[in-house]
Amino acid sequence: MVVDAARMQRRRTFGQSVATMVPIEVTSFCASTCRFCGWRADNKEMVRLSITETAIREQARILARKGFSHFEIAGGDDLTLLQQHLKGLVRGLKEETSAVNPEARVSVCLVPMHEQHYRDLRQEGLDCVLTWQETYDRELYGYHIPSGPKAWGVDEQLRLQKKTDEPVGFLHRLRSQELAIRAGLQAGLGAMIGLSKVTEADILSVVLHGRRLIEHYGDAVEPLIIGMPAWNPILTQASDNRPASEFDFDTQGNFELIAAIYLLAFPDRMAWVFANGRVPPDIQTDCVETACCFTSTLVQISPGAYLDFKQSELDTMFERVRGVAEATPTFEEVMSGEQFMHYFASHEEFVAGFEARNLHVVSDRSYLRRADWAVAAE
Ligand code: SF4
Repeated sequence: MVVDAARMQRRRTFGQSVATMVPIEVTSFCASTCRFCGWRADNKEMVRLSITETAIREQARILARKGFSHFEIAGGDDLTLLQQHLKGLVRGLKEETSAVNPEARVSVCLVPMHEQHYRDLRQEGLDCVLTWQETYDRELYGYHIPSGPKAWGVDEQLRLQKKTDEPVGFLHRLRSQELAIRAGLQAGLGAMIGLSKVTEADILSVVLHGRRLIEHYGDAVEPLIIGMPAWNPILTQASDNRPASEFDFDTQGNFELIAAIYLLAFPDRMAWVFANGRVPPDIQTDCVETACCFTSTLVQISPGAYLDFKQSELDTMFERVRGVAEATPTFEEVMSGEQFMHYFASHEEFVAGFEARNLHVVSDRSYLRRADWAVAAE
């Protein structure tokens, strides 16, 4: 019944349209130690890479020509990158993608920053900040995220704060959406489904969090992007904490229902439920049909993964490299450093699957035009 109701609302609100996005990882260096993640600082088996502005520009051109309209900069908690390179990466990505597609939009999914940083990044072309809380349970957050910027927060100079008894990183993360909205940006929120034994509590916390933002900031709030991260196995099997934990959440079996709940829990058009590569493409496409107007395709989660390894001048593409044989990694070495295991299908395969279900691809910018909402409502 919930899924049927969501399908009706989805058709009424977004018709048969879907917007596609692609994550571009810029660094796998990370100073945090999240137990569920392959990139945690204490995982010594992991290859580490960070890319240059040249590399993001080249990947931007490749991806924009495929038809994406939304491009997400993602990466580990790498404060060097934040302090020295992030503005150039945002500017480079926006310039290159806008030259191919004037509708192009750019988001970041990184360490939560402060309001002035978000304002500065907006000047460079940033449109949106995605921040997944992982869990709204403070104690559980502290257990899974024991140290680093995600546990202790960063100051206004983007330096790691000292450890205190207060859950500074947890609270700062919780405010990230609000700081982004005040800076004039769209915001995304979400919890890692299944991390808490009481998954329902985290799902409802996401809903309450989003509703409070809408109540408080009114028309200043763009539709909220509702992410659904999940705890997948990692590539370095010997250092994977998942088997030893009692994690038993049925992610695939519940993904569509949770997507439907999120869509129904928000006012019409105010939730872009975001289906990602954490479940197989057929389940992801079911979710798109039921609830998700926003989805990733062609997901590869290692810095440099979309470069053309036959054509690129690879010695200009990597800013820092650790754990590979040469200064310039091979494609296989790059792919061995993905953050976690995920499902893969090309953009073209996803689009063909959407079209087989009478879904057509639009730009996510088209969902923001409030003037169109009023016309549709009439
Ligand atoms: S989830 Fe993010 S912050 Fe945590 S270890 Fe992984 S990359 Fe670092």
